[in-house]
Amino acid sequence: MCIFCSISDGSIPADVIAGDERVMAFRDISPVAPSHIVVIPRDHHPNIVELTQADPELAGHLMSFVARVATQENINGFRVVFNTGDDGGQTVEHVHAHILGGRSLQWPPG
Ligand code: 5GP
Ligand code: ZN
Repeated sequence: MCIFCSISDGSIPADVIAGDERVMAFRDISPVAPSHIVVIPRDHHPNIVELTQADPELAGHLMSFVARVATQENINGFRVVFNTGDDGGQTVEHVHAHILGGRSLQWPPG
């Protein structure tokens, strides 16, 4: 089973920050910034392109939830990233937003 589906159903533990019946946020197991939060829809969708086509209402709810979680993190700015596909660096095929912050982030990204 998909690792993020397993986190969603509680069969794999995670440091959960917030959630509701449709979405959840938890801390990345391998953080690349002092604040590194992963936000997922509980339903399995492979990537942001498929999610916006299959369930645009859920995609909108996910983005509102991302904004709320990022605001509550009390950081001085943040970045929201959807790694997508091979060149995008996506390693887990369950759509997720990364919220990154807690340090000055470089641009352009690597
Ligand atoms: P991607 O590389 O697909 O954009 O992001 C996947 C993210 O999920 C990575 O940052 C990775 O550290 C994180 N991750 C993978 N497995 C787990 C896990 O079991 N628990 C948590 N909390 N994060 C995970
Ligand atoms: Zn999944």
